[in-house]
Amino acid sequence: MSDPVTFFDESTLKTLPARFESLEAQGVLTPTVTLARLETALSAAQRAIFDQIMNLDPRDYGVSTPYAGDLEPVPADLVKVSGQQYAEHGEQKTMSEKYVPRHIFGAYVRMNDAFMAEHSNRRLLIQSCYRSPAYQVAVFINWLINGYDGDIAKTIRHASPPRYSQHTIASKAAIDFRNIDGSPSSGDPEDFTATIEYAWLRQHGGEFSFYESWPAGNEFGMRAEPWHWQHRSS
Ligand SMILES: [Zn+2]
Repeated sequence: MSDPVTFFDESTLKTLPARFESLEAQGVLTPTVTLARLETALSAAQRAIFDQIMNLDPRDYGVSTPYAGDLEPVPADLVKVSGQQYAEHGEQKTMSEKYVPRHIFGAYVRMNDAFMAEHSNRRLLIQSCYRSPAYQVAVFINWLINGYDGDIAKTIRHASPPRYSQHTIASKAAIDFRNIDGSPSSGDPEDFTATIEYAWLRQHGGEFSFYESWPAGNEFGMRAEPWHWQHRSS
């Protein structure tokens, strides 16, 4: 048995969110960044932490997130979604570019069309879909430092290491939805359960092969994520 507790070089770990912010501004850190590309922008100590996060096992922290799949190269054929807009506290915001595997984008468009046939002034927005393994590690580290004060056991109930993430395996990637009112917001994400979009997804998501992965009280020990719907075509 391996030791379930991983110790990080804390001082290096804390340098990473600021590093990610500048790499994001430079257009290097995007949902399709490769590990090779990102590693050229990190120090040896930062790369060592990347390796540790890459290899975390949720079961060592009491979470039984299903294995999502072995790491794959970043797919070449992704649909880039640009210019999605929502309003938050009366302020209009434009989302950064999102990347969606083509077959999932097709299912999404059909589903959003059906949604808008009932709610013509609304829209299911894509907050996140495909995330490369390297990008997923960066997402994990940002939550670890900024959301959970360095507590891996809490972070891993929310963000998964790449081999356990439903955002890194393109063939069955999950979509994190957002609505035009900005829900789920970072402040109060559970508010999404009270939206028209969530009620509609619960009723109709399965008709388009989208399934809620982490409902409240799920058997895996993951925290409830009502906005996270995995596309399962087989
Ligand atoms: Zn998600």
